[in-house]
Amino acid sequence: MAEEGFTTRILHADRRAGTEHGAVHKPIHTSSQYAYTDARELAAVFQGKPGFSYARQGTPTTAALESKLTQMEGARASIVFATGMAALMAMFSTLLKAGDQVISSRYLFGNTASLYGTLQQLGIEVTLVDATDTQAVAAAVTHRTRIIFVESIANPGTQIADLVGIGELAKRKGLLYVIDSTLTSPYLLQAKDVGAGLVMHSLSKHIAGHAQGLGGVLIDTGLFDWSTYDNILPTYRKGDSAGWGLTQIKKKGLRDMGATLAAEPAHRIAVGAETLSLRLEKACQNALMLAEHLASHPAVKTVYYPGLTSHPQHVRAAELFGNRFGTLLSFEPQPQIDCFDLLNDLRVVILATHVGDTRTLALPVAHTIYHEMGPAMRLEMSISDHLIRVSVGIEDPQDLRNDFDQAFAKLT
Ligand SMILES: *Cc1c(COP(=O)(O)O)cnc(C)c1O
Repeated sequence: MAEEGFTTRILHADRRAGTEHGAVHKPIHTSSQYAYTDARELAAVFQGKPGFSYARQGTPTTAALESKLTQMEGARASIVFATGMAALMAMFSTLLKAGDQVISSRYLFGNTASLYGTLQQLGIEVTLVDATDTQAVAAAVTHRTRIIFVESIANPGTQIADLVGIGELAKRKGLLYVIDSTLTSPYLLQAKDVGAGLVMHSLSKHIAGHAQGLGGVLIDTGLFDWSTYDNILPTYRKGDSAGWGLTQIKKKGLRDMGATLAAEPAHRIAVGAETLSLRLEKACQNALMLAEHLASHPAVKTVYYPGLTSHPQHVRAAELFGNRFGTLLSFEPQPQIDCFDLLNDLRVVILATHVGDTRTLALPVAHTIYHEMGPAMRLEMSISDHLIRVSVGIEDPQDLRNDFDQAFAKLT
């Protein structure tokens, strides 16, 4: 039989892995601990045999979600966390030590940029580069570089890093390549195809999809050779080296740090994930429609959306993401329009942070998610004071167009 498609595999994953009473969803396991009748078996689980002990390290419900996410990326294994930020902190803090260097795209989600401040205080060097250009990344590599980190589509500027070029560079230099693929999701990008060793997603966004639960994941694609990674502790250098990286992250980053995904949100995320492809097809179409509409509107100065031919990485995005360009756009209205007044006149679009919801959301970037960063850093990241970020949902397209039109009409 031919290999099944993306959505079929997600829909049937729980049932095929085996569930009680023929349930089509993995049940929500709320037990904090898992008991054994044989003490030797209990000890074996502590010593690495697959199984459950204490729910901080996972439950059958989170394991079912992990297995689904691994399948979605065509990868080797996954670990879920309470939030996307918890996944990022667990990854950086357990794979790096003082004196190491991370090279990162400077076009970043605001909290990741803020997290870098914490890493720097711990003695980890963070070098921000223009990752749309592999030469800029290559020029920053030193003998202390351990990780290259980029976002697949940068939040909120929509810059597209040279994902393929950086993958080749990382391979040549033997560096771990980590992609935050939150804005693409496994439906638009299989991060393995561009050479990523680890993929991170905020599950709170497209994968959950309905703004109904927070979560994060780190997925090992199986491409990186962990036996070459200096920072794996001696206790985790055992057995098949393919598992070393995630084992260290799970023990040090999940068990010790404790940002565990609870079973209830894990279940909601898993159910949301079933319709990922449907939601993304629709939301990407809506986003392209809205980006084109805004770009042709006299009240709008600039629109940033990879689907527009004016976007500097339009061709790259088309090749990488199969002619779908994501659900996030940002724009600057003409200078005489106050971005607060414009936002206040929207009736369908919700004024809220978050991305990847079924509903369309908008917010003034510099004054909210990038406020704490200050003007100098905003300038470096190309965030203007008037920039509005729109996360496009699955509403009927004419309602989105009409909503912006009526808001502009009130102001001009
Ligand atoms: C939201 C987001 C995160 C953080 O995820 P949370 O689940 O909110 O902690 C990280 N990266 C990107 C690109 C995001 O959009």
